[in-house]
Amino acid sequence: MRVLFVTPEAYPLIKTGGLADVGGALPAALAEIGVEPRLLVPGYPEAMARAEDPAEAANLGDPLGAGEARLIEARMPGSGVPVWLIDCPRLYDRPGGPYQDQDGNDWPDNAWRFALLNWVAAGLCRGDSPLSWRPDVLHANDWQAGLAAAYLRDWKQTGVGTVFTIHNLAYQGLFPAETLPTVRLPWSMFGIDGLEYYGQMSFLKAGIFYSDRITTVSPTYAREIQTSAQGCGLEGLLAKRAPDLKGVLNGADYGVWNPATDEHLHQPYRTADLAAKAANKQALQQELGLPADPAAPLLVIISRLNHHKGMDLVLAALPALLGMGAQLAVLGTGERGLEEGFSAVARRRPDKVAAVIGYSEPLAHRLQAGGDMLLMPSRSEPCGLTQIYAMRYGTVPVVHATGGLADTVNDCAYDTLMSGTATGFVFHHANADALHTCLERAIAAYRKPEQWGRIRANCVRQDFGWRRSAERYRALYETLLPT
Ligand code: ADP
Repeated sequence: MRVLFVTPEAYPLIKTGGLADVGGALPAALAEIGVEPRLLVPGYPEAMARAEDPAEAANLGDPLGAGEARLIEARMPGSGVPVWLIDCPRLYDRPGGPYQDQDGNDWPDNAWRFALLNWVAAGLCRGDSPLSWRPDVLHANDWQAGLAAAYLRDWKQTGVGTVFTIHNLAYQGLFPAETLPTVRLPWSMFGIDGLEYYGQMSFLKAGIFYSDRITTVSPTYAREIQTSAQGCGLEGLLAKRAPDLKGVLNGADYGVWNPATDEHLHQPYRTADLAAKAANKQALQQELGLPADPAAPLLVIISRLNHHKGMDLVLAALPALLGMGAQLAVLGTGERGLEEGFSAVARRRPDKVAAVIGYSEPLAHRLQAGGDMLLMPSRSEPCGLTQIYAMRYGTVPVVHATGGLADTVNDCAYDTLMSGTATGFVFHHANADALHTCLERAIAAYRKPEQWGRIRANCVRQDFGWRRSAERYRALYETLLPT
């Protein structure tokens, strides 16, 4: 079974968040269970530089009038999964991020940057594709890949099944209606039964509307997005498509996130020997300029800093948290006000709070290893990977009960503690008081070493490896094969 996996991010070529981790790990896990996956990604400069054994596979000409493009065939570092990169210097060869410039502004030509990705993806399914390899299934990820199914529908191309995965419904890829003809789609698609969203063109809605199957990254999020509270205006369409909508939990790549082999750590440690976390905690405190106090509970945050991640709740609960004798270390970038909020408390209380405003893969690993708890109070969280990694590092997650956080973290209570299933601390209302009460419970447990040891041992025992999820995707792809 051949699967074309279309994604705007795939670790280690390019990463801004969890989607990249999925783009790197899921195709590799599929390959291990007999599926034949190939990736298709935009040829950003860092991706072009990191892909292994690149060779030109086809000249694509200038399909959208937005720039000349070539298809480069290469291999993913590590897994060796084949990857095609679209080399279109006019659209992709520039400094900055995949979606935004260095100042955090969306690229003005994002519609064409990602329309090209979709045009090429759909083109590889056609009889006149420049390549001989044809997919049985096109698996498109997030709004950036939402148009591929629309092109296939417009071209009346059959014989390939389409799966669209929503990694985050809040990002929709909205563009002015006039964009439609410039990306070579007909006005007949611009309607409520199509890709129109309140007068704009929505890449995300196109993916949801035109794909055969829709998945999202946790069962709870699959239910939540059918409600007005979390449906971002698409709840009606999603509810209508419920028979074709499935939640498949993401996995963790334990090749990358394994404290025993993690080369970023001060001192790698086996999960059976969590006492060795102490050395990592001390090294982390020193690295961040915090007092190297072994008794102070050290909470860590590795996150985009925005409202949807609940970061304002952390700032609101922070005085109480520090009053409990805790330390907080934050790594992230995002909304200016929140970046400034964390930087300001770090300046005011350098004995308690460290804030690193930036992106650092090595520091993310060291925070997972050195922290006692990982704080993730997201208002909504499609799956969340950071809490899954934290558990493997023996770092206890403190989370809001939403989406994948609700599906992966088991609250510590009398019964879960007794049954050996408590893996963290969960609160149910996204407000600072509820977070505060939850933190009190977590810190009280931290101060009981025997109980804390049991919770950490439960955490490291959890297995969120990709295999189970890859099998679910394979079963889903199978439903799309001709009988
Ligand atoms: P999301 O996809 O919403 O960003 P996830 O929890 O699913 O959230 O995935 C976040 C991923 O991005 C994790 O691999 C995490 O380690 C990483 N990450 C987030 N912020 C940073 C940062 N500032 N520096 C390094 N890694 C980060």
